[in-house]
Amino acid sequence: MTKNSQVIRFFRARIPSFECTPGCHDCCGPVTASSEEVSRLPVKSEQEHDRALEALSCPYLGSNGCQVYGERPLICRLFGTTPSLPCPNGKGPAVMIAPEIERQIHYFLANTRQVLL
Ligand code: SF4
Ligand code: SF4
Repeated sequence: MTKNSQVIRFFRARIPSFECTPGCHDCCGPVTASSEEVSRLPVKSEQEHDRALEALSCPYLGSNGCQVYGERPLICRLFGTTPSLPCPNGKGPAVMIAPEIERQIHYFLANTRQVLL
């Protein structure tokens, strides 16, 4: 397991989970992720990527929501768990993410090569 994979696993375990409004995907859009996270996702064609970007959407967003929910990138997991990325529908965990973990995640995102999904 690479160092980044271990770091991603560490962060995933520390981002609080919560229940979204069923079927909601209001916070989905063009997002970036590390190459480790992207390598776990099914490959999409260039046309699928282009189509999603044109619609300011994500190529993994299907009619029933995220098609890669279990492997969604850190930024998708962070949404709604911190006042800096609030859910527009007022959803969120009972206890928000620890500020120190959020700081470490932003540091990781800023210091790893990020790829547009
Ligand atoms: S975090 Fe909020 S906006 Fe995003 S999918 Fe969940 S309910 Fe919808
Ligand atoms: S990976 Fe899933 S949760 Fe993240 S933006 Fe795409 S569809 Fe939404």
